[in-house]
Amino acid sequence: MTIVIFIDMDYFFAACEELRHQELKSIPLAVGTAKESEKYRGVIQTCNYVARKFGVRSGMPTTNAYRLCPNLTYLESDDKYYSDISNKIMQLLRSYNRKIEQMSVDEAAMEVIELNYDESYLLGMEIKNKIKNEIGLTCTIGISFGPTFAKMATDASKPDGLMIIKEEDIHNFLKDKKISKLPGIGPKTEQRMMELGIKTIDNLAKYNPILLSEKFGYVGLELHALANGIDNKKISDKNDRLSIGRERTLNVDTSDINELSKMIDILSNEVYNEILDGNYWFKGIGIKVKYSDFNFVTRNKHFNNNIDSLNTIKSTAVALIKPLIKNDVKIRKIGVRVFAINKIGGQKKL
Ligand SMILES: [Mg+2]
Repeated sequence: MTIVIFIDMDYFFAACEELRHQELKSIPLAVGTAKESEKYRGVIQTCNYVARKFGVRSGMPTTNAYRLCPNLTYLESDDKYYSDISNKIMQLLRSYNRKIEQMSVDEAAMEVIELNYDESYLLGMEIKNKIKNEIGLTCTIGISFGPTFAKMATDASKPDGLMIIKEEDIHNFLKDKKISKLPGIGPKTEQRMMELGIKTIDNLAKYNPILLSEKFGYVGLELHALANGIDNKKISDKNDRLSIGRERTLNVDTSDINELSKMIDILSNEVYNEILDGNYWFKGIGIKVKYSDFNFVTRNKHFNNNIDSLNTIKSTAVALIKPLIKNDVKIRKIGVRVFAINKIGGQKKL
């Protein structure tokens, strides 16, 4: 099981405006796409929580928003400025060296492969504090065993919240919620499901999956699984796809090729499993060696053809490490990676 930490910035565009115009913090504020002079023809993109108290919501026509809140301050969205802040946030998240999928300008999912819920909670708090201190904005964090449920945890605890949904709590969390709370169900799908008598997530969970797939295709099955507490989505990190690697410190520093080969086997197997998971081919294999004096070297081998064999990873890594073995200084840590990765269309034969 892999835990996902979902990070969602609170009322992002409006929060960015508050950051540079502190005086807007205490008054109702909305950001929309239309120019100030044409604001009544536009739609609200985001608004702060003061405006939300009046009933103003994202996606609402500006004219409706003004009806609810005549003193609303309107700003035309400044995408360049928001994306600069977004980049800073993503950079901060990247500094944790974990697999991250950016979902939108202000949302990201982080996979925390070896942490339990308590440790994930601590990391989530740390991320919240860091974003608050270094960027000056609040975010909400959801933690669960899949990205969709982690996102739902953020939706349920906004703003400035942190919520964990564990496996044993997912059914209780889901069952009475309206289907529109499931990410992936937009107004059209919601309407069509209502016509079938599916109103709550529990109704969806109990609906015949074959009928769902007839009406909604594969998406119907995915939604049915989610409604039943199954979240199989994997995080795909675009930055990470350039290479897949593992590295580890040896129990005892050594110059013994047999010991080094054992570790290479372990690392190669781990890398290979990820290759299988992602349906990847690759054209390069590399190793990294760190000596007990903390110097390190890397060696790479490029291939002309796509490779996907475990034996090739192992034998290449061993061949690359042999010339790096020294008599006077032992090896402390080894890394094995594959690079120049690509995904062949369709299902790869295993
Ligand atoms: Mg957000």
